[in-house]
Amino acid sequence: DDEAAGESAEDLEARAPVVTVMGHVDHGKTRLLDAIRSSKVTEGEAGGITQHIGAYQVDVPHEGQQRALTFIDTPGHEAFTAMRARGAKVTDIAVLVVAADDGVMPQTVEALNHAKAANVPVVVAVNKIDKEGAAPDKIRGQLTEYELIPEEYGGDVMFVDVSAIQNINIDELLEAVLLTADAALELTANPKKAARGVAIEANLDKGRGAVATVLVQSGTLRVGDNMVAGTGFGRVRAMFDDTGEAVEEATPSRPVQVLGLSTVPRAGDSFLVTNDDRTARQIAEKREAAERNALLAKRRKRITLEDFDQAVAEGKIDTLNLILKGDVSGAVEALEDALLKIDVGADVQLRVIHRGVGAITQNDVNLATVDNAVIIGFNVRPAERVTSLADREGVDMRFYSVIYAAIDDIEAALKGMLKPEYEEVQLGSAEIREVFRSSKFGSIAGSIVRSGIIRRNAKARLVRDGNVVGDNLAIESLRRFKDDATEVRDGFECGIGLGSFNDLKEGDIIETWEMREIPRT
Ligand code: GDP
Repeated sequence: DDEAAGESAEDLEARAPVVTVMGHVDHGKTRLLDAIRSSKVTEGEAGGITQHIGAYQVDVPHEGQQRALTFIDTPGHEAFTAMRARGAKVTDIAVLVVAADDGVMPQTVEALNHAKAANVPVVVAVNKIDKEGAAPDKIRGQLTEYELIPEEYGGDVMFVDVSAIQNINIDELLEAVLLTADAALELTANPKKAARGVAIEANLDKGRGAVATVLVQSGTLRVGDNMVAGTGFGRVRAMFDDTGEAVEEATPSRPVQVLGLSTVPRAGDSFLVTNDDRTARQIAEKREAAERNALLAKRRKRITLEDFDQAVAEGKIDTLNLILKGDVSGAVEALEDALLKIDVGADVQLRVIHRGVGAITQNDVNLATVDNAVIIGFNVRPAERVTSLADREGVDMRFYSVIYAAIDDIEAALKGMLKPEYEEVQLGSAEIREVFRSSKFGSIAGSIVRSGIIRRNAKARLVRDGNVVGDNLAIESLRRFKDDATEVRDGFECGIGLGSFNDLKEGDIIETWEMREIPRT
């Protein structure tokens, strides 16, 4: 897959920057994406038939040239993080939308944390400047606290005051995006080879089958190509651009809708073109098998508080990334303050990569998978589908309702001193054949071991006709003939005493288990 190697410089051509619009809910992301798009629709285009395919491209006049910009048309960082969690790097540059009348809000911070984590340069669009109470300078001040320093204050982040509704400064914003892209990035790709890229959005259409919007990242995608996208494959039957126009080919940074795949890929799945349909099918099958295996491996790989504790205990030091979520901001702040005050020693680092108020979201889990973080929930819980995602991804989520309990656990992990966890391990079962009364031992169950082993001192329960009639008992005495035994195996007879528990009957089953320390690797 190392295709950049061996690429000769003369094959590389400039490609359009790919832009994602992020920001707090209701700050105008959708409106801004619409405004950008409609500002560039030429009048000939029948009033701009807008077709939502998940991404679009606009042409911007820039220093006497026409330059293209590609916008991912699914606002918000959920899609962005979901794609990143899948290993896809789609976005070159982020536009952070902040409403001038509302200011920096939790999802503003979340969005800029995501951009930072992905190493993506940011341009700030201060939106709604048409509104009364708009305070664009205040936004600049607020964002300075998050290390986004405006150019006018001597920093390197471009801020543009816009109104998505009144179409104010939309061109200036696009100009700023191009300037930032040119300054920070060298965006090139080779269009002269088989296409590769990423799926942005996809759905199953009743009439047309799997419909996927893909972003070409290198090479040129053509109608008739054999392709694999995610675990789907097929021959490209037709392609459409974001105006609904049929197209024959798509070059780097150009999003197109593709028909002809066998199944619907997920956002962030990579695609590639193969020489023939057999190869496409084989790759798709391999991917499917790999996905199954990866799922298992991934669960083992993610860090848990126990793993971290173990690494510290073994002297393999590392940084522990945390995501803090709580029901009220005061609690989250108190928790963070207390955590940062823990004396962790010189070799261990604690990093709170994200904090927020509210339930644990899918986005938190995605971020945890990307940055290998442990999620701490204080008086909050995840929704069910979030729990299953965390389960699938093997992300460690911990819930507390007392701040000190959270701090104790994390402090212990940082010092390699977490208390061991125990699990129930089934040992075996025995069936009672006959019950004896002994003056010394009380009732003794003359039994035959039916499975596993019976061990003295193990825990036990008594099951009669499928019902538990005694639980949390212990094998207090165990004998083979006249001798004490420590354990008796499957197929052998023995006498079992359950202490003062005397309600024993022929045909009852004694199940036994032990509590065992969960190994930390
Ligand atoms: P999103 O949740 O960030 O996608 O926000 P929307 O684009 O849906 O916008 C939220 C609300 O703000 C809508 O009612 C928009 O009409 C309004 N809005 C968006 N941009 C502007 C603007 O520039 N000026 C004003 N006055 N309202 C805006």
